[in-house]
Amino acid sequence: MSSLPETTIQETNLSKQESSQLLQQLRTLLGDDNVSAAAVDRLAACRDYWPMGTLWFLEGKAPALPDLVVWPRSTEEVAAVLTLARKHGVPVTPYGEGSGALGGVIPLRGGIVLDMKRMNRVRHLDRENLLVTVECGLNGALYEEYLNRQGFTGGHVPQSIRCSTVGGWLACRAAGQFSTRYGKIEDIVASLKAVLPDGTIFQGRPVPRSSTGPRLDHLFLGSEGTLGVITEAVLRIWPLPEKQALLSYAFATLEAALEAIRRVIHSGARPAVVRLYDYVETSHHFPETKEAEGRCMLVLISEGHSDIVAAEAKIIDAYAREHGAVACGPEPVKHWLERRFNVSLASTLFRQGAVVDTIEVSANWSNAASLYHAMQEALLKVEGTALASGHWSHVYPDGAALYFTLCGFPPGDKADYYKQLWEAAMTSCLALEGAISHHHGIGLHRGLWMDQEHGPGLEVLKRIKKALDPDGIMNPGKMGLEEALRWRK
Ligand SMILES: Cc1cc2nc3c(=O)[nH]c(=O)nc-3n(C[C@H](O)[C@H](O)[C@H](O)COP(=O)(O)OP(=O)(O)OC[C@H]3O[C@@H](n4cnc5c(N)ncnc54)[C@H](O)[C@@H]3O)c2cc1C
Repeated sequence: MSSLPETTIQETNLSKQESSQLLQQLRTLLGDDNVSAAAVDRLAACRDYWPMGTLWFLEGKAPALPDLVVWPRSTEEVAAVLTLARKHGVPVTPYGEGSGALGGVIPLRGGIVLDMKRMNRVRHLDRENLLVTVECGLNGALYEEYLNRQGFTGGHVPQSIRCSTVGGWLACRAAGQFSTRYGKIEDIVASLKAVLPDGTIFQGRPVPRSSTGPRLDHLFLGSEGTLGVITEAVLRIWPLPEKQALLSYAFATLEAALEAIRRVIHSGARPAVVRLYDYVETSHHFPETKEAEGRCMLVLISEGHSDIVAAEAKIIDAYAREHGAVACGPEPVKHWLERRFNVSLASTLFRQGAVVDTIEVSANWSNAASLYHAMQEALLKVEGTALASGHWSHVYPDGAALYFTLCGFPPGDKADYYKQLWEAAMTSCLALEGAISHHHGIGLHRGLWMDQEHGPGLEVLKRIKKALDPDGIMNPGKMGLEEALRWRK
């Protein structure tokens, strides 16, 4: 491939001369095979799974294009790239596997895309302390398979596990399907190594807890490449579970199911998987379960020591029945386990002209049901919306995460429809004091609501950004940290 497509939201690029000088300097630093200005590499690194990027791609356009792509092999090489980029004021966008859902990797101002995939080694397995040290370009599925071979699990299984990296998880504060027991990635990480925009290497220490001032590792969690590049992490691991119990229940109402879940969690039980589907998703995912017809399906997996699993199953069963549930046995859970990575329907719908997306938020228990109803009502009011169904899939003592799946056939411009849909979702979520994202992060698109999410806190984030990255080279235009976003217009 030699020619490149038109771009839709590109803000700037390097001049030809700047780009070729930089190419030579990067080749000297990293070696010829680890730097590319080829059209095919620039195109491959220009977008993620953000639906607008996909829609533009289907029209033959790219959101924005980098000038160069690099594949560093060590923290020191990342530091060398950032030092050089800063010296020349060139933007740098870290890239994991591009599975982000909000346009986080789009190189709005061109420059260098720093692809982490060649930093993919497991460096140390510490069986005594249940810790593993890995490089951050490691693919999620390869990471979990490695641990399973050693008799452990990382406890983190996002739906995108086959197409995401450890670094992407940390940069976006990801959540896996087994999060109710093992936690989100911010609970799983013990410490990390990161390169700051001026090339300084930060190294955290994997102590269990400390009281030594703010935990600096945490600054990089959720920073989405705007504060530096996360190159290594020490993650907590668990022995493979001795026993699993697969449980499912059908409830007459969402409210009854949410109350049963809340009471299970407040009892101290921590099933790994807790997923509650609304009526629409229940009929879509579990058509064979007759007891679930016209009801809301709850699937759970309890795992670990067999005594703990037996006790948890008993507790869950008691609360479910107290709230009027019908037990549906292990089959619906097996069905979910088989189909949990299948998202092929979205691709088909995109090609049929639909706009498809997902929106995940979180709220306290006191607002969990009302948030669902308010967001669904607001989303269905947007002209063209055909589907706004939801499920809860990550549960905590103080609340839960709510995940909407959306499909619309816009009557007019797709980008206008898309913005209206999100405005409806974000506004109704904020009105009920929900967090506008639970695990997909902010990227480019959700930056539009960062001021409403954080209020004066956004200024604090901007000051941190300015202090660490005074020249604004790291992933510019993201996370609502800059006023002028072309996508806003
Ligand atoms: C089908 C599908 C299912 C999904 N399911 C889930 C799910 O279950 N749970 C969930 O949490 N998310 C899910 N996601 C979203 C996505 O997979 C996550 O956000 C994931 O963490 C992104 O990882 P990545 O390596 O692909 O990152 P990328 O998309 O490459 O990058 C994401 C952001 O992080 C930055 N970044 C990447 N690597 C680094 C690094 N090493 N240092 C600093 N910044 C970096 C990038 O600049 C960008 O801003 C899903 C996405 C898809 C498409």
